Amino acid sequence: VREWIRDYCKRNGLLTLSVVAVITGCVTGYMMRGLNLSPQAKIYFAFPGELLMRMLKMLILPLITSSLMSGLAAMDSKASGRMGLLTITYYLWTTFIAVIVGIVLVLIIHPGTGTEKEGHQGSSGPVMTSADALLDLIRNMIPSNLIEATFQQYKTDLVPLVKSSLKESQANYVYIIPDNDNPRMGHPVFLEITPAPEILYKIVPGNSKQMNVLGIVIFSATMGLLLGKLGERGLPLVNVCQCINECVMKIINAAMWYFPFGIIFLVAGKILDMHDPAILAEKLGMYFITVLSGLFVHGVILLPLFFFVLTGKNPFSFIRGLLQALVIALATSSSSATLPITMKCLLENCHVDRQIARFVLPVGATINMDGTALYEAVAAIFIAQVNEYELDFGQLVTISITATAASIGAAGIPQAGLVTMVIVLTSVGLPPDDITLIVAIDWILDRFRTMINVLGDALAAGIMAHLCKKDFPKKTERVRTRLASM
Ligand code: ASP
Repeated sequence: VREWIRDYCKRNGLLTLSVVAVITGCVTGYMMRGLNLSPQAKIYFAFPGELLMRMLKMLILPLITSSLMSGLAAMDSKASGRMGLLTITYYLWTTFIAVIVGIVLVLIIHPGTGTEKEGHQGSSGPVMTSADALLDLIRNMIPSNLIEATFQQYKTDLVPLVKSSLKESQANYVYIIPDNDNPRMGHPVFLEITPAPEILYKIVPGNSKQMNVLGIVIFSATMGLLLGKLGERGLPLVNVCQCINECVMKIINAAMWYFPFGIIFLVAGKILDMHDPAILAEKLGMYFITVLSGLFVHGVILLPLFFFVLTGKNPFSFIRGLLQALVIALATSSSSATLPITMKCLLENCHVDRQIARFVLPVGATINMDGTALYEAVAAIFIAQVNEYELDFGQLVTISITATAASIGAAGIPQAGLVTMVIVLTSVGLPPDDITLIVAIDWILDRFRTMINVLGDALAAGIMAHLCKKDFPKKTERVRTRLASM
């Protein structure tokens, strides 16, 4: 028995600790809600969780730049082109399937029927359209200043507003504060909601510091490809990148032992801050269940099925190796912040080729968000149902396309999908103000959709490793071929 326990702890100890930490965090958070802690005390309490987020975010930049530059430099350009094309096609295809799953479920379950809508009057300022979102996506691909791209980007934050802090007694506002770097996002949206809901949120792009991951991915990938073409002369920089990459992986290994502790406070702090859980039971229960069942169907049935069909391997033993990353995704709500752990799991537990993981993962973390796409489609149709607004087939097609686009445009940060959903709503003429209907439970759905986003990227890496294995022979084979040619 002792032998078994030792073996178990060695293999699954960290994962078990992380799962226990999530549960402990939920229980602690709920128990402490009764204490009515002051905002200051809440900040102190959540501090170990904040440190966890900081550690993860600290690793994103060196990880992405060093992996892509050293990874792509070592690749043959034909092989990397093929892999790039396959990866992007697979990403688009699975995102679209996720949207279809969401649409089918929301049409069958019809969660919006019988839901009483908070009346809203007069609104709204100019909002973002699909064309603006596309322009923003392209803008992000070409950062005007690379250094700046590492610390700023359109970011979202939902800041709960205390009702009493508003001067107007009847009117309440949810608005977007101008953001200099994203002119369109910058148009404030003023919403007047009557009767005033209990919880108000201010959506603030530009508040928290987030980097432009997409811009950094594009730049590093280009640099990597060009470094490869430089041959001998590029080697010193490739070596530097390789060293940085190895060190980052070592930091991740060490930081992993802090994670369970940090997770407890991260989760508890969130629950402590949560507003009025009763809302969930009253109005949004069916919507919540619809999104969750869609995520379940996509993540537990369809994605594993694709994996099985394309690789012939058991998807669930592959997913077993990813559990640690999925727990971190659940705890952080951010696929970018989870990236270092996903990379570690893929390399160490799933034994995916390093070169492939280095490309497929960072790209996936920025553009492949199956969970987000599914949720956006469900939420838009739910809002239409609540408004008793009949959507025709053409509008459903529009929703499926815009939800796919909006998920590609969403950053891998908490609740980014909520903001890009404005695009989906406006594309079929639904009032963007109505995101306030779902905002109260969005933070929890975000955790689950982030898990599916991360799962989608990791399974894609496994599939690409299988499909492109001829282009990327195992290291031992590479060495053997090299030796044979000498
Ligand atoms: N939080 C999600 C992610 O990081 C994005 C979203 O759907 O809001 O993947």
